[in-house]
Amino acid sequence: MKSYRKELWFETKNRREFINITPQVEECLRESQIKEGLLLCNAMHITASVFINDDESGLHHDFEVFLDKLAPEKPYSQYRHNTYEDNADAHLKRTIMGREVVVAVTEGKLDLGPWEQIFYGEFDGKRPKRVLVKIIGE
Ligand code: ZN
Repeated sequence: MKSYRKELWFETKNRREFINITPQVEECLRESQIKEGLLLCNAMHITASVFINDDESGLHHDFEVFLDKLAPEKPYSQYRHNTYEDNADAHLKRTIMGREVVVAVTEGKLDLGPWEQIFYGEFDGKRPKRVLVKIIGE
């Protein structure tokens, strides 16, 4: 069995951003030379997510509104976590959007559905953060 590991780095300009990382993940898969197996992709930070959904700007706006309704950023004082930090909302948003995705690898390709794309979801950005890509298989 082959095993591959790589870290992808991101530093967003804004506090919250969604970045389509499918091309980078596909590049990892090519580099791994694995044809059949499983690919795990996870955020390595507790205020960021990796998730799969549609690459459609209207939907991304809807996600932003939905998440800020459930866990509004402000006022910062509404959260107990915000004693030394201001990112309680980011922890909660990350929990809603999830930590990782697992994608099947078939014939050397990501076995995604027709509109599925892999996204990095940043909720407390403007600093360098990592995403792990781990692939196992043959
Ligand atoms: Zn925090």
